[in-house]
Order: sequence, then structure tokens, then C-alpha cells
Amino acid sequence: MASQQSEDFSPHGNQGIKKPCRTCSDFKTWTTNLNQNANVQEKMNSQISQSTGAETKSSFRPTIHTVEKTFPECPLDRQQLGRNSWSVLHTIAAYYPETPTVDQQKDMVQFMALFTKFYPCTDCSEDFKERLIANPPATQNNSILSQWLCAMHNEVNVKLGKPEFDCNLVNQRWRNGWKDGSCD
Ligand SMILES: Cc1cc2nc3c(=O)[nH]c(=O)nc-3n(C[C@H](O)[C@H](O)[C@H](O)COP(=O)(O)OP(=O)(O)OC[C@H]3O[C@@H](n4cnc5c(N)ncnc54)[C@H](O)[C@@H]3O)c2cc1C
Repeated sequence: MASQQSEDFSPHGNQGIKKPCRTCSDFKTWTTNLNQNANVQEKMNSQISQSTGAETKSSFRPTIHTVEKTFPECPLDRQQLGRNSWSVLHTIAAYYPETPTVDQQKDMVQFMALFTKFYPCTDCSEDFKERLIANPPATQNNSILSQWLCAMHNEVNVKLGKPEFDCNLVNQRWRNGWKDGSCD
């Protein structure tokens, strides 16, 4: 779909190169787009070095790992379910609107309640339901929602004896990638 294609990129802000949007692409499309961008960057580097005579090192060459299936695909255990679920929840929060409508805010409160209701780990679900009552979703905008979710996840981390996550880093972890460029 043409309109889908244009949404599959988010601006990279570097010499007009666009960075593929991971959450809108399947792995194959994403790596293909990365390759195409790498080729564009190589061409640009070669043009720059031809015009300036300078050696230009590509800083955009992505490392692409081949995914080799070494495990059978099995139903999720509690840990895998938790990890995957947190990934979905934090990513949804990261892409939640900056200025949500009243309806979107209501929908988000309902989404969290329904997600918890159907979460297929009964004691996790019961526990999280209590936490939602004590601390309902803060849905004013994506930053506030992300911070709320980070705090909720930290409560579960503490309960399970895991280290707390630094919520100042939540946007780097779930939306923008680390500042050192390791996710670019
Ligand atoms: C709603 C919910 C309730 C759960 N309740 C229980 C329970 O009661 N008992 C139980 O045994 N398991 C529960 N789980 C599962 C548990 O939280 C973990 O997901 C599971 O133990 C696997 O942990 P993990 O160490 O792989 O990292 P996870 O806790 O799954 O975290 C995944 C990744 O998220 C990032 N992260 C960690 N903390 C934060 C944060 N605060 N904010 C943003 N990002 C963060 C880190 O990069 C981490 O690697 C629950 C899961 C969910 C989604």
C-alpha cells in the first residue's frame, strides 16, 4: 500500500536520509530499507570524496545479523510472556499521542484494564489489577503515560527482586534508541 509505505519511515534528520520505523515494518522490509539507506549513504560518501578528494568513512553501515532458528517455537512461559508484554505496553505508551483526545484517554484507561483482565498469568493479573486501582493510568500525553508505566513496571520489578529501571531513559529504551547510536 502506497500510504503504508510513506508511514514506514520516520525522519532521521541527517542529510535527508530516512530511518525505517521498526514498529511499522517486518524484519525483512526493515533490513532491506536499512540496506537501501546504506547504499544511499555510500553513494553520498563517494560523491563527497570525489568532490573534496577526502576519504569519507561510512558511519551508517548497519550490522545485520542473520536470524537463524535454533529453537522450536514454543508457547510462552511466564518470563517470556512478561518480557513480550512489557515490550508491547512500553512501545504503545511511547507512541501514544502527545495531545490525546478525551476519547483516546478513556480508551487507554480501558485498554490497560482489559489487557490486565485477559493477561494469561492469573496471579500477575490479580496483582496488577490491584496496582491499577491504587494508581490508575496517567493518560495526559505520551511522556506522562510512559513515566506512569515505567513506575508500574518498577513496582513489579521490586516485587520480583529485580533492579529498578531508570525512568529518565524510557524514551531511549522504547522509542528513540540509545544516545550512543547503538540502535541506529
Ligand atoms: C503487567 C505485568 C504484570 C506482571 N506481574 C508479574 C508477577 O506478579 N509475577 C511474576 O513473576 N511476573 C510478573 N510479570 C512478568 C515480569 O514482570 C517479567 O516480565 C519477567 O519476570 C521477565 O523479566 P525480565 O527480567 O526478562 O525483564 P522484564 O521485567 O520483562 O523487562 C523487559 C525489559 O524492559 C525494560 N525495563 C525493565 N524495567 C522497566 C521499567 N520500569 N520501565 C521501562 N522499561 C523497563 C528492560 O530493558 C528489560 O530488559 C508481569 C508482567 C506484566 C506485563
